[in-house]
Amino acid sequence: MKGLIFDIKRLALHDGPGIRTTVFFKGCPLNCLWCHNPESRCFDTESYTHLDRLDGQVFKKQKEVGKWMSVDEVIREIEKDKIFYKESGGGVTFSGGEPFLQYEFLGYLLHACKHKGIHTAVDTTGYIKREKFESIYKLSDLFLYDLKHMDERLHKKYTGVSNKLIIENLEWLSERKRKIIIRFPVVPGYNDSEKNIDLMRLLLEKLYPNVNQIDLLPYHRMSGSKAERFGLEQQIAGIEKPDPAQLESIRKKFEETGFTVGIGG
Ligand code: SF4
Repeated sequence: MKGLIFDIKRLALHDGPGIRTTVFFKGCPLNCLWCHNPESRCFDTESYTHLDRLDGQVFKKQKEVGKWMSVDEVIREIEKDKIFYKESGGGVTFSGGEPFLQYEFLGYLLHACKHKGIHTAVDTTGYIKREKFESIYKLSDLFLYDLKHMDERLHKKYTGVSNKLIIENLEWLSERKRKIIIRFPVVPGYNDSEKNIDLMRLLLEKLYPNVNQIDLLPYHRMSGSKAERFGLEQQIAGIEKPDPAQLESIRKKFEETGFTVGIGG
């Protein structure tokens, strides 16, 4: 069986505990305005015109994104850094896109890692049919679970889908006492209002202490430059990075409830 992968990043430090290898699955059911990996959305191999600038001149090059890989091929890449996982308490993180879109392939990889004693994490949007979660959720040691907006209408406007299934799946996963770290991308002017933070806190308080850790992921401008590099239309422009003081105030709010809060993943 093969899966569509668009990148494998070794020595990753922000995708879960310790030193990790992050395997990026191609294909995503969301279309976030601020997407930091615009090339990850389409579930197909793609070819972009890559623009390189040198001495004021622009050079065009075709770049292929996405590769069909077998379980063995991916596992071979993961195993290259096994020594670092052991030393640092790290492992492998399956990210995307949305890894559960290729849940059978994900299941095989999780099985293989378990067999080899490698710690696993799945970074998910949560926008996945329950049956797919049910089939393999026990195989992952950790979930990095994205929460983007509590208001259903705004969630739909900014990501293209409702947040209902995402919240239901989070509650379901928490009830099953899975280890979950919430990831909240803080995008100024889109989801950093006091109202949204308070509603998120209300939801997460209900899940505490099953869920007890939140990572705030400050918006960065990489999505814009990537979109430009790949010749894609940038969906939002002119957004500044979040103010550090505001990030601190969001951190404090969650810490008051007892959550461990990290900034930057
Ligand atoms: S969920 Fe992640 S990969 Fe998918 S569109 Fe949103 S930011 Fe991009």
